[in-house]
Amino acid sequence: MNSHDYVKTDKIAHYCGVAGIVSEHEINIPEKLFYPLFALQHRGQESAGISYNNRGQLIFYKDLGMVSQVLSRYLHEEHPSAVGIGHVRYSTQGANKLENAQPITVTCNKGQISLAHNGNISNSVNLRDYLFKKGSIFQSTSDSELILHLIARSKQNNFKQALIETLNSLEGAFTMLLIHEDTLYAIRDPLGFRPLVMATAQDMTVFASESCALDTMRLTDYKQIEPGQMVIVKGKRIVTEQYTPCKKRSYCIFELIYFSRPDSTVFGYSVHMLRKKLGRALSEIDERPGELVIAVPDSGNSAALGYAAASGIALEYGLTRDHYSGRTFIQPTKEMREFGVQMKLHPIKKAIAGKKITLIDDSIVRGTTSNILVRLLREAGAKEVHLRLSSPEIKHPCFFGIDIPTKEELISNNMSPQQIAEYIGADTVSFLPLKSLRSCVDTPDDFCYACFNGSYPVQAKNPAARRIY
Ligand code: SF4
Repeated sequence: MNSHDYVKTDKIAHYCGVAGIVSEHEINIPEKLFYPLFALQHRGQESAGISYNNRGQLIFYKDLGMVSQVLSRYLHEEHPSAVGIGHVRYSTQGANKLENAQPITVTCNKGQISLAHNGNISNSVNLRDYLFKKGSIFQSTSDSELILHLIARSKQNNFKQALIETLNSLEGAFTMLLIHEDTLYAIRDPLGFRPLVMATAQDMTVFASESCALDTMRLTDYKQIEPGQMVIVKGKRIVTEQYTPCKKRSYCIFELIYFSRPDSTVFGYSVHMLRKKLGRALSEIDERPGELVIAVPDSGNSAALGYAAASGIALEYGLTRDHYSGRTFIQPTKEMREFGVQMKLHPIKKAIAGKKITLIDDSIVRGTTSNILVRLLREAGAKEVHLRLSSPEIKHPCFFGIDIPTKEELISNNMSPQQIAEYIGADTVSFLPLKSLRSCVDTPDDFCYACFNGSYPVQAKNPAARRIY
């Protein structure tokens, strides 16, 4: 057992973020990739890597750690190249190994290929079994490696045809950037679970999971790669194809509720403005028992602004967040968990003492962090604590690139809101109903809500799939 074997976050977490650049001329691609990857750090903090074409060879570098630890040396080195991709990754329990870091770079009968993938292949167990029986040897437990095996095994001689054949055998979430020789392929699955945007500058085309990564390069005129689309870029030549029809969209609603950075535009929505709208919707159905609104920073900030504006209840800066303590981990003992939260979130006693608090957060997973938070607020003198969540109750796992615990671990599967309130020591707890959430987006049927209602757009062939990634 290593230290990661019992380190799990109490927030649901992303698996990955991707970025890619194609230039008309040779530039220092690794240095250029640093900035968008740094902006995507919130999508994965456990490994980072890049791959780029250097005079006909795909060179890669990846390691465990944050972008600033793994890739900062590229800020001082010259690596001339015209195409490169990068990846940040979060892993589930026990799978934080270097061999699972990306991009994955291989040489096969189709040439040199490098892949950066965000998502989860929900039929990966079946595909792995099939490939294993055919004699494939795997180096990682990542389902991304399957994609490269399928491309290599394809009977199509043309790389693009082999890629399309492979994509059509995949199910689930697969936003990916792929380099083949000197060409970049940007791909989104036909349901469009994960976001992918692109922007073109004078002599450069840039792709990223979120628009905040393009903002770091001062590229503000971006567009979304549509579900089922493939964009092929070589030098200044950009070709966009619909490699498979998009019959229905299933954008992950949690990208808007929690995952994406507030300054990003995702699926056409300003993340911050949408979260404010969720806060307003939450306020509209609430009895509003508090006299102060306090956000759990940073995840509850935007929704708290919306709740306070709509209710007329003052928003107070009641919790400060330490930005140097890293992620909130679930540690093996209750004392260590409490210490972890206490290191990260600090109540401002003068603002809280004697007040009825409405505490706003985005979601509740196991309830362990909320439990400690409520106690901290009470110790700071809060008269009442009413927890409000800007999402519905999470009752089901995700098979599309998000790490949600098993059904048994999810507090909303085991307890009613009233029981949760008793368990975490709050006066009341309530959630944004699914109907209200749907009313906050213009096209509610274009979103996935499976972790709330169990209605999966694609069935995972084997639930164990999420555990091997
Ligand atoms: S199940 Fe939940 S977290 Fe997973 S894609 Fe659907 S909405 Fe997103």
